[in-house]
Amino acid sequence: MATAYQIAPRTEKVTIESHVNSEVDEEPPGKRVVIHKVEEEEPPSSNATGRNRLFRHVPDTAWSDWKWHFRNRITTVDQLSRLVPLSTEEQAQIQLVTRRYPLSITPYYLSLIDPGDPDDPISKQAIPSIMELTMGSLGLEDPLGEKEDSVVPGLVHRYPDRALMVLTDICPMLCRHCTRKREWRHGGWVRPDDEIEAILGYLRCNRQIRDVILSGGDPLTLSTQQLERIIARIREIKHIEIIRIGSRFPVVLPQRIDAELCAMLSKYGPIWLNTHFNHPREITAESAAACDRLLRAGVPVNNQSVLLKGINDNAETILKLCHGLLKIKVRPYYLFQCDEVQGTEHLRTPVETGIKIIEGMRGYTSGLAIPTFVVDLVQSGGKVPLQPNYVLSMSENELLLKNYEGQIFRYRNPSVPVQSEAAAPVSGHVESLLAENSRPAEDKGEVNADRVILRS
Ligand code: SF4
Repeated sequence: MATAYQIAPRTEKVTIESHVNSEVDEEPPGKRVVIHKVEEEEPPSSNATGRNRLFRHVPDTAWSDWKWHFRNRITTVDQLSRLVPLSTEEQAQIQLVTRRYPLSITPYYLSLIDPGDPDDPISKQAIPSIMELTMGSLGLEDPLGEKEDSVVPGLVHRYPDRALMVLTDICPMLCRHCTRKREWRHGGWVRPDDEIEAILGYLRCNRQIRDVILSGGDPLTLSTQQLERIIARIREIKHIEIIRIGSRFPVVLPQRIDAELCAMLSKYGPIWLNTHFNHPREITAESAAACDRLLRAGVPVNNQSVLLKGINDNAETILKLCHGLLKIKVRPYYLFQCDEVQGTEHLRTPVETGIKIIEGMRGYTSGLAIPTFVVDLVQSGGKVPLQPNYVLSMSENELLLKNYEGQIFRYRNPSVPVQSEAAAPVSGHVESLLAENSRPAEDKGEVNADRVILRS
């Protein structure tokens, strides 16, 4: 059943028709960069401005209801052009792109766009670009080889102790950099019960699997009841220790993290949630509150960003993002190199950019704020962490290490102890050790500067 809702744009009333079917209407289915100055941190912003400008006639009860946002996603160029300034040429280009790569933006996420900023990082993640087609011959459809690693339909088992369940191909927003863009043209499906049973059967028979990731699409598009049926069944399998949920809802539709969902999740822990903030502007009062609700339900939240050209490809932006995440108690976990997916080439950065961003952060902020920069290899090769090279040489006796300021240090490599030495009692040396440690360091030849052999 199509649903109509009156939304107030800049100057006129607009009717946005739902593209969600009747079932969903009831319940959606389920370079070395050195930072010299860090900008003053700001509290999470409110998106009240965008909401007032575009959706001021939407009552609070609807705005705080995730199902309203889901039903009223912006999915056509016509709808989009009434809410965002677009030239005739841009509209024609977007129309062309959406024939291959559809469009879907939640009213909440759209309200974060700054119409006065031509390089708006929210807009670039949400609104199709003609470069998705003009550079579309580059890259692969399924670079991670997920189809090859599917052991039964909907279950990817690549690493020995982990498995990934794909529950749906539906997402509240279609991110232009998505790795699973190939799934977008399949029109929206939820994994049927018989396939869920086959997946559970595989998990039961493979006792080395201790960690199951619920993924999609976005698994939180399933209703809380549908989700609970699946999670409860997974929890019956004794060797499954943890469940992880991969979801961008906290970022693009934080209203989904409601009391009902949190109460359900709190019954089946340990459950972890990995979400996907890419830019500090996405940290709003609403998204912060959603993460807080998850944490209070006993669900730790990690963040997996994707490095995107013109959106977050510099150390200042990533640093500000990671500081903002820590302030809302979300751990910066991964910074992904954007996968070589067809239709995303215009958003990909050279690998060196990611390494330089990490180099620009290390030493300038707490290690807690620094994500691991990762490349996901093609053809099921798995994740490879990349970082600046701090080890200049390494031998049995000594390493040459470079610190974050470029200074090079000798570091004595403890040798492998001989069996008899390792077993020797220490007690006989206690008095001499005490005497030795009471002398000044210089007397013992432990002058730290001797270890510094070069300053760059
Ligand atoms: S939420 Fe994730 S799976 Fe869905 S479109 Fe965005 S990147 Fe792709």
